[in-house]
Amino acid sequence: AAKRLGGRRHAFFRKELADQARRHLALDGELRSALVNKQFRLHYQPKVSLIDYGLQGFEALLRWDNPGQGMISPGEFIPVAEETGFIVPLGDWVLDEACRQQRVWLDQGMNPVPVAVNISPRHLRHRTADDFRRIVDRHRLPPELIELEITEGAVMQDIDHAMSVLGALKAMGIRVAVDDFGTGHSSLSYLKKLPITTLKIDRSFINGVPQEREDASIVSTIIAMADMLGLDVVAEGVEKTEQANFLRHLNCTQVQGWLTGRPVPADTALGLLTKRLKEPA
Ligand code: C2E
Ligand code: MG
Ligand code: MG
Ligand code: MG
Repeated sequence: AAKRLGGRRHAFFRKELADQARRHLALDGELRSALVNKQFRLHYQPKVSLIDYGLQGFEALLRWDNPGQGMISPGEFIPVAEETGFIVPLGDWVLDEACRQQRVWLDQGMNPVPVAVNISPRHLRHRTADDFRRIVDRHRLPPELIELEITEGAVMQDIDHAMSVLGALKAMGIRVAVDDFGTGHSSLSYLKKLPITTLKIDRSFINGVPQEREDASIVSTIIAMADMLGLDVVAEGVEKTEQANFLRHLNCTQVQGWLTGRPVPADTALGLLTKRLKEPA
């Protein structure tokens, strides 16, 4: 009986997997037509100085404007795009669109801030620094106005490739941040060697401060370490004034979170930039 039950359970899991594969394949097809039908949007979340609350940069965050279902968040489709490989053309589109928008803002006379784009592990593995550079050049942008956010996992999957791409990006002047820092398992010896500009402290640690002692220690250690390594540091997911006060006390200079601004469409983001109109020459 046990054997028969085990066999049946196997059949059950096989069916589950087959169903999942079918769902992912269907979603992959929908994502591909969404790109053709121009249903993807970027929203921009401000990164803000804790010293004067000035705008320091934007992070571009992907949304799928689905005619039937409304705005779909990236958590619902990025993992599938990563699995099927569609993330590579989709990621190229994101970088191109962020660059196009940055060019529009420059042409409107804005005093620009860097725009950061998320690069998934598979996208990083399939592209070279020159591939990224070509997209930035297509829009005649100074490389310092574009930042790429990569996770520790993306680096650790293929360290040699990541090192060479990041090194070349740094030489070109394109900024690189490590996203969700503290949740991966990159070793400190690699961190020391990585050609990056910024560490973004993961939201899960910020969530607990200032109350949770463990989170407070981790956050303060990351900030001290970034300082020693000469890296900028951004705290992600800051929602409360007490969190901002705690971070300021630790000399963390930049935050990104609901307290200082939610992700907004480009036309709303323009409002934040217009406070930074260039002085007439
Ligand atoms: P991430 O890169 O760590 O982006 C930050 C996420 O935290 C965003 O979620 C943002 O809306 C959210 N967030 C910001 N401040 C707060 C806060 O104060 N409280 C809370 N609870 N959340 C906050 P979003 O836009 O849903 O994106 C989720 C993840 O999806 C991103 O995490 C990133 O890993 C991925 N993603 C988004 N856009 C892209 C993209 O264009 N390409 C790739 N490869 N991944 C993307
Ligand atoms: Mg990010
Ligand atoms: Mg993050
Ligand atoms: Mg994340």
